[in-house]
Order: sequence, then C-alpha cells, then structure tokens
Amino acid sequence: MMVMKKVVSRHFNLPWSWELITLTLSLRYSVKAAHEFNDFLHGNKPGKCKVIVSSHNYDSTPPVEDLGNLVASIQAAGADIVKFATAALDITDVARVFQIAVHSQVPIIAMVMGERGLMSRVLCPKFGGYLTFGTLEAGKVSAPGQPTIEELVNLYNFRLLEPDTKVFGVLGNPVSHSKSPKLYNEAFKSVGFNGVYLHLLVDDVPKFFATYSSMDFSGFSVTIPHKEAALACCDEVDPVAKSIGAVNCVIRRPDGKLVGCNTDYVGAISAIEDGLLGLHNGSMGNSSPLAGKLFVVIGAGGAGKALAYGAKEKGARIAIANRTYDRARELADLVGGQALSLAELDSFCPEKGMILANTTSIGMHPKVNETPVSKEALANYMLVFDAVYTPKITRLLREAAESGAKIVPGVDMFIGQAYEQYERFTGFPAPKDQFKKIMEN
Ligand code: NAP
Repeated sequence: MMVMKKVVSRHFNLPWSWELITLTLSLRYSVKAAHEFNDFLHGNKPGKCKVIVSSHNYDSTPPVEDLGNLVASIQAAGADIVKFATAALDITDVARVFQIAVHSQVPIIAMVMGERGLMSRVLCPKFGGYLTFGTLEAGKVSAPGQPTIEELVNLYNFRLLEPDTKVFGVLGNPVSHSKSPKLYNEAFKSVGFNGVYLHLLVDDVPKFFATYSSMDFSGFSVTIPHKEAALACCDEVDPVAKSIGAVNCVIRRPDGKLVGCNTDYVGAISAIEDGLLGLHNGSMGNSSPLAGKLFVVIGAGGAGKALAYGAKEKGARIAIANRTYDRARELADLVGGQALSLAELDSFCPEKGMILANTTSIGMHPKVNETPVSKEALANYMLVFDAVYTPKITRLLREAAESGAKIVPGVDMFIGQAYEQYERFTGFPAPKDQFKKIMEN
C-alpha cells in the first residue's frame, strides 16, 4: 500500500500504481485539496485507488456532534476513507471517538493523540477502525502517543482483537511503567481467552467508570494513586478491601455492577511469609511466621493499608511510618499500632529482628538512588520487603541484603496479587509458572 502525503503541494502527477492517497492538512485545506484532486481526476479515479482525507486537532477532542459534522464534511469532500485525529485531555475523550467510529457508514481511521488516547489506537479493530498507526522505532512518532508496531502486535495482541474482545486494564497515573499488560496479554493469548489488557492513564476515577460503563469494559487493576478513589466507585466491596480502605481490582459483574476487592493483601503477605519460612527452614507448624513479630510499614496509602491489615491479621504488632504523619496516625489507630514520622524511622529500634515493608514509591525508577531509611538502621531488621518492583532490586533491598537481612522483592507481591486478579478476570486458574517466567525477563 503506498501512501502519498500532502498531495496538494504537488501537481497531481500520479503514477496509477499508487493505491492509497492521504490528504493530510488542517480540515479546511485537506477538504480544499480533496475537491481540487477530484476536479483534476474528472471522475477517472481507478477503482483500486482510495483517497484518505484527514484532519488533525492538536488542542482537544470536540463533542460527539461536532465530530459527526467533521466526518460528514470529510466524506462530502470525496474521501473514500475518513481520517481524523484529536488530542486527549482526558482518557474519557476516547469514548466520543469510539462512538463515532463504531457507527460510521464509511471506512474510518479515528485516533486520539497522546498517552491518554492509547486506547483509541489499540482498540481500533474492536470499535470499527479501518487501520491504526504504529512506529517502527520507539520514540520516532509521527503523532503523539503512537505505540510501536512491536507493542501493538506482541504486547497488545492487536491481530487477535475483534468486536467482542473484552477490555481490561490497569488504571494509574503514572502507568506506562506497569508490566501488567505484558503479564495478562501473554496469558490471555496462551489460553485463547478473548480479552485485551491496556495501560490506562486515568486522572479522574469516577469520570472514567461513569464513561466506560458498558459490558465491553470487564475488569480493571488499580494502582497508584487511585486505589481509594476506586473503592468509592464500587457498588460492592469485599469485606477485606473495605477494612483496608482500598481496592486494587474492580470487576464488572454480568448485571453491570462494579465489585471491588484487594488482592495486594494476599500477594504481599504470602510473599513475606514465604521469605520468613525460608529463614525457619519451612518449620512453623500451623501458625504464621509473622505472629508476634514487630512489623514496620513505611507508607499509609493503598499498599500500606493492605500490608498493615494483612500483617495484623497474621498476629504481628504494627508500626506505621509515613511522610504525612496524620495518615500514619489514622492507619495505626485502625490496626491498633504505633505511628511514626519518616524522620523517626532511622532511630526506631525497640527490638532487634523486626520486619520492614516499604510501600511508598521511594526508590522506584527513575529515582533509583532514593531509599526511605538509612543503611545503618537496616541492621535491626531480619527481613526487608519493598513493594517497588521497578527496579527488581531497589537500593533499599540491596542495602538490606548487605546488612544481613532476608530480602523479599516487590515482584513476588506483584505476581501473587496478579494470580488472584487473573482468576477473577477470566474464571480460569492463573498460569503461575508462565507469570513467573514473564516477570523474570
Ligand atoms: P498510594 O495509595 O498513592 O500511597 C503512596 C504512599 O507513598 C503514601 O503513603 C505516600 O505518603 C507515600 N509517598 C509517595 N511519594 C513519597 C515520597 N516522595 N516520599 C515519601 N513518601 C511518599 O500508592 P500505593 O498504591 O499504595 O502504591 C505505593 C507503591 O507500592 C508504588 O510504588 C506501587 O508501585 C507499589 N505497589 C507495588 C505492588 C506490587 O505488586 N509489588 C502493588 C501495589 C503497589 P503521603 O501519605 O505522605 O502522601
């Protein structure tokens, strides 16, 4: 397929082997160019030649009615294929573009530019799009937000998408670093499950759920900073998530209701228990190896609450250290523990052999040289866990290992919480070995 751009600037000196001609200018000029082009052809356009007339709006995504008028004017200019690209100020802008694309009577390419518009590029086979755009090399884009062809085909399984493909994704901000799409999409493909899992850069959680309320949008993982806001959007929340005050997984039930749960809790606590059992050669009888231990949680957000609540359930004594002391106090009161400021953490040593769990984003890529606690203080801990999983071994974990502590990386929590979510999303058991292998690479 050959594409000729900005044909208006040339003199319509076309070799007829060219099959697809794109008139890409601002709307006014591309419509004018299309009219001039049709005049030039005098109705002699070969059957195999298709003309795309395209309009770009780099400022916003207009209301549906305006988009409908835009499509009509492009079509009236003689386009065989209508193309428009708008700018995403919010991920919900994409819904208006899907509405136009899915009802279009003419072949249509409808893209929403920017990271918030990614859905429009990946889901085009589901919502009636004629084609999408991918780049050959990361970063070398012709419009903001274009994924690479490699990502479209191998990460999002683009060639397998069809109108009844169910949509899943991780809501976060930032979210592009998340490895969840790789994990779920590879697993969906390996068992032939008709679903796709996306990065969803969300600013306003209630607006997102109110907009994407159809059964097409079947399930969501929720990450920083939206776990508490997502809970408030659920029609039902399981009792554990309610106690924690945060959900990391939201499922749309067949009756359309949103059900929230927290799988961080299971993933993190079982990874830490496994680490402690390794220290005790797996011999703790029926009781949890956490029972009676002093468990220090850094952070009081979604993951902090999950860890504090989970460790409390296993019989640990809890201390919470947080940047915002009032939040540490609030969570400590909830789990009957002690509250600390972050500054107090370095000198906090009521006993040796404590467990430390970082649940803040300190040390996360790209700020990999940051750490929440001094290396000297780490000598007081027998086990150190870090929820951060990019990089796999954070500075905190490296210094903890050097200080003699057992370390548990965040990737173990990530895999554990993902098993649970996968089973809720698909109804099938998670391919555990496959998950581990994917996360090792
Ligand atoms: P969240 O609800 O937004 O909570 C963030 C917490 O981190 C709050 O306590 C916040 O303190 C603190 N914080 C953020 N930036 C900080 C900074 N620069 N200095 C000191 N404290 C800071 O987020 P979340 O969902 O709990 O996630 C927290 C981290 O855990 C993220 O890195 C996330 O990727 C990771 N996580 C990993 C997994 C896994 O499977 N491994 C699962 C869930 C989360 P304030 O209260 O003062 O704002």
